[in-house]
Amino acid sequence: MAKPRTRVASGVARTTTKPKAPVTRNRPTRPPADDVRVVFLGGLGEIGRNCAAIEVNGRILLIDCGVMFPEPDMLGVDVIIPDFTWLMDRLDTIDGIVLTHGHEDHTGSIRYLANQVDLKVYGSALSLALARPRIEEAHLLRHVDFVEVGDGERRKIGAFDVEFLAQTHSVPSAFALAIHTPQGVIIHSGDFKIDLTPIDGRRADLTRIAHLAATEGIRLLLSDSTNAENPGFTESEATVGPVLRAVFSTHPRQRIIVSCFASHLHRIQQIIDAAVSCGRKVTTLGRSMQRNIDLGVDLGLLEIPAGTLISLESAEQLPPSQVCVISTGSQGESLSAMTLLARGANRFLTLEPSDVVILSAHPIPGNEHSVGQVIDDLHRRGVEVVHSDHAHVHVSGHARQGELALLMQLAQPEFFIPVHGEFRHLVHHAELAERMGLARSNVLLCEDGDVVSLSDDGISLGDPVPAAYVYVDGNTVDLGGAVVATRRTLADEGLVVVACAVDVAAGTLLTPPTVTAHGWLADERTTVTLAAAVDAVTRAVTAELAAPDRSAASVEKAARRALGKHVGEKTRRKPMIIPVVLDAGSSVSPSAARRGRR
Ligand SMILES: [Zn+2]
Ligand SMILES: [Zn+2]
Repeated sequence: MAKPRTRVASGVARTTTKPKAPVTRNRPTRPPADDVRVVFLGGLGEIGRNCAAIEVNGRILLIDCGVMFPEPDMLGVDVIIPDFTWLMDRLDTIDGIVLTHGHEDHTGSIRYLANQVDLKVYGSALSLALARPRIEEAHLLRHVDFVEVGDGERRKIGAFDVEFLAQTHSVPSAFALAIHTPQGVIIHSGDFKIDLTPIDGRRADLTRIAHLAATEGIRLLLSDSTNAENPGFTESEATVGPVLRAVFSTHPRQRIIVSCFASHLHRIQQIIDAAVSCGRKVTTLGRSMQRNIDLGVDLGLLEIPAGTLISLESAEQLPPSQVCVISTGSQGESLSAMTLLARGANRFLTLEPSDVVILSAHPIPGNEHSVGQVIDDLHRRGVEVVHSDHAHVHVSGHARQGELALLMQLAQPEFFIPVHGEFRHLVHHAELAERMGLARSNVLLCEDGDVVSLSDDGISLGDPVPAAYVYVDGNTVDLGGAVVATRRTLADEGLVVVACAVDVAAGTLLTPPTVTAHGWLADERTTVTLAAAVDAVTRAVTAELAAPDRSAASVEKAARRALGKHVGEKTRRKPMIIPVVLDAGSSVSPSAARRGRR
């Protein structure tokens, strides 16, 4: 299903022709050089499936390769991935994928490329470790070569020259990227906020960005727009710890259960610190939480005093005052540990009314309703719930306007393209760039599928490439928008089947139509309505069978139309209608008759 594309946003020009020469500071002059293309395959106009390709001389470097999680009305869809159509006949030109960080909206789609081509994936040790399980699940590990890079490292990756710069975000070991191209330096911010007091002391390498700006100059900045609508600065992750400790110390006798993102190791560290400071042991709920804590310890990213982590069974033996449970499911995901706990359906743990539950996360867009339901269910179980609406138990991992402006000031880019955000976020970020003094013609508002060319003449937009939502359901990739739309009709309106046997050649109805409904009308009117529907279909089919140019297909069409009209008039609903007309009297086989439909 192709998403609607908006070509022009209010207040910001989309440059489709060569822009006028930018009004810029003294920039280093470069000799004439090859063009560089940036192809946006996902993440611009939505939160999720982040993926961009940089193309130089026919070679490709991918920046991130993520999934998007479906909206509630995308029934049965597990994830949405980028449209790789453009990449498919260029697979052998991919020099590598560089990961900005380990979140699934940046790593979750690697498996859908690794089943087409062997890949080299570059990232921090943590990003690679977080990306790995999804690839392993798909039995594709042998097709992926994981290459670990450290802070500040500069690597030749095929035709590309990439610097990995320390960045701060809601998962440790994130990177911004400085990509040295024939058309100058491209900076990709990665997902970020500027946390000057990060839990691990690893600050963003802003100095290097400023240095590159002052020496080589930065040709193009691509920067995270998630919080571009919000003024001010996102608070440091370190501000959450004292609040957690206060909640722990005001509930000394109760068992405390905290949920957060399993990849948010800094949050997990602070929860563990709060628990330890009150003499509590810590246990985990949810597979990814246990896995990521083990990973954090192995990589030296978590510091946990010996004897602190215990099994759930051991925790059950302790008094509530000595237990802290860290759980997955902060987003109300339907089968997650916290959602099941709230429903009383978690087979490992049962909530007691005396428990305190802290939701140390904020719903990401689209999840508000499910999270609200979890909070309601928790209240139904009588527990005390502490969440981000009324306590400072969460801070965002994304930069607000103050930080976005600061990065722009440090980078002094010649051209700017906002990335990573819904369309309104991109618009606000573009407007901010203009307020920062960038010429309107040097700010491009792009969407998925857009192709940007950097050349000696400046920047321009080329013909877009395919960028439809590609739905994944189980092992089926590219479910197709029509399938999802059909599921939506079935879910919203139900299904009515009308079946009858006819002899088309003789023009007779052999058996009267039967009408069966599924998920449509569920009261005493049903029988009456169905009986009336049978009459309507019988009349229509009989009339069509008298027509000189009749066929099985035309009889089927008549049955569908009569039933649809009847149902629409009587109930004002539009269930899916499936006519099954069996031509039992002629040489036309039922399957041929079915093929003749539509
Ligand atoms: Zn992201
Ligand atoms: Zn992220």
